[in-house]
Amino acid sequence: MRNIPFVISGPSGVGKGTIVKALLKKDPTLVESVSMTTRAPRPGEVSGKTYIYVTKEEFEKRIRDGDLLEYDEHFSGLYGTPRSFVEARLKEGSVILEIDVVGGLNAKKLLKDTVLIFIDPPSIEELVERLKKRGTESEQALRERLQRVKYEVHMREQYDYKVLNDDLDRAVEEVLAIINKERNKEGD
Ligand code: ADP
Ligand code: 5GP
Repeated sequence: MRNIPFVISGPSGVGKGTIVKALLKKDPTLVESVSMTTRAPRPGEVSGKTYIYVTKEEFEKRIRDGDLLEYDEHFSGLYGTPRSFVEARLKEGSVILEIDVVGGLNAKKLLKDTVLIFIDPPSIEELVERLKKRGTESEQALRERLQRVKYEVHMREQYDYKVLNDDLDRAVEEVLAIINKERNKEGD
């Protein structure tokens, strides 16, 4: 089995976090990369587990020190992948990166054999409904997230796989099948 990176991207609220959580539960050999961000924690999020929360100054220092594999600024915040965890992890197993489309395409250039998976919503209406129902975003944050959907959908063309998150269980099984297929391909 190959040890490779899997990127999960898609519009905010489509269900990326929910899918990744289910994947990790179903396959304990998978591990998720924990990103660094300058955005404030949402209620229920765990520092060091959901994200590593830092100030803008600290994030900028990490960029200067070369500690981040990739990073991007969106939704009024900086988000980046700490290099050390991902590189160490890939020596032993596969890793899931739940990151945006810019980060995903950069990761593909930097990490050998990266597989890009884009999660599609059944419709924009359903996406708005899920985001509102989650109830974590202010009006402003909600607007920012919806404004970016068009850009993300445009970038999805460069992704290796597109998975529709209509029924959650079905979507999780489809992503798992992709992961297993790719891990079992012959490496060089
Ligand atoms: P993301 O990580 O992409 O921003 P989340 O995983 O937080 O999205 O999901 C957004 C909301 O949609 C959550 O309240 C989640 O429970 C819900 N959700 C996820 N997948 C589905 C689905 N297939 N059908 C209905 N609701 C879903
Ligand atoms: P949220 O604020 O909803 O947690 O995340 C907003 C967006 O940032 C999502 O698309 C998420 O995938 C992306 N994101 C999270 N971590 C990273 C990262 O390390 N790098 C990049 N480029 N994007 C990230």
